[in-house]
Amino acid sequence: MTPAPALSVVVPLYNEEENIPLLQQELAAALDGLDYEIVFVDDGSRDHTRAAIQPGPDGRVRVLAFERNAGQSAAMYAGLHAARGQSVALLDGDLQNDPADIRRLLAELDRGAADLVCGYRARRKDTIVKRLTSRVANFVRSRFAGDGVRDTGCTLKAMRRECVSALVPFTGMHRFIPALVKGAGYRLVEVPVNHRPRQFGVSKYGLGNRALRATVDMFGVRWLLSRQLRYRVLPPADSFPTA
Ligand code: UDP
Ligand code: MG
Repeated sequence: MTPAPALSVVVPLYNEEENIPLLQQELAAALDGLDYEIVFVDDGSRDHTRAAIQPGPDGRVRVLAFERNAGQSAAMYAGLHAARGQSVALLDGDLQNDPADIRRLLAELDRGAADLVCGYRARRKDTIVKRLTSRVANFVRSRFAGDGVRDTGCTLKAMRRECVSALVPFTGMHRFIPALVKGAGYRLVEVPVNHRPRQFGVSKYGLGNRALRATVDMFGVRWLLSRQLRYRVLPPADSFPTA
C-alpha cells in the first residue's frame, strides 16, 4: 500500500455505473497536483458499478465493496473509517456534487477556520417536492439536533480525520454528521457549492423513506447528544495529588 496521503475522498456508490467514467475524470481534474486517494464504496450495487471503476496506475483509487446493499450511512461510515488522509472529503457518486468544489472546502480546513466544512446547495437542482421537504426538514433538524446547518443532505463535506471518531454507526447517520461532530466539540462552517441535476441513474430516495425515518432519527440523536460522555483527562503530572 502507498504511504498515507494528505487527502482521502470518500464516495458512496449504489447503482451508479453510468456516472463512474465522468466522475473519475472530474475527480482527477479537480484533484490534480494534490496528494490524495479516492475511496469508492460500492454499496452492494446490482449493476456494473464496481466493474466501471478504473483502478489507475498509482494505487490512488481504492474500492471497498459491500457484499449487499447496506445503505448510504453504512457506505459513508465504512469509507470514512478506511480513509487514511489527514483531511477527508465526502461527495455523492451521481455527479450532482461538483468535484471542483473540493479545493474550496479544503481551503477552509487549511486556514484553520473549522474542523468540518459543510457544503450547501445554493441553487439546488432537484424536484420541487424534494426541495420543499428538504427545506422543512433542515429547518426543524438544525434547531432540534442543534447543528445549525442549513443543508445536511448535501453530501459534499470536508473534515479533519479526527472528526470521524464522533460518528455513531446507525442507519440514517449520514444526515447527522454535522450534529454529531459539533456535539463532540468540533467547529463547523458552511460553504456554498455547485449542484447539478442527475443525468444518469435514479435517486435512491422518495418521500416515504426519508421524511419519517429522519424525524425518528432526530429524536435519537438529540437524546444521544444529551447523554454524551464528556470528559477531559488531566496531564499525568496532575494525576497524583501532591502533599
Ligand atoms: N447511495 C448509497 N447507498 C444507498 C443509497 C444511495 O451508497 O443505499 C449513494 C448513491 O449512489 C449516491 C449517494 O448515496 O452516490 C446519494 O444518493 P442519491 O443521489 O440517490 O440521493 P439524492 O441525491 O436523491 O438525495
Ligand atoms: Mg443525488
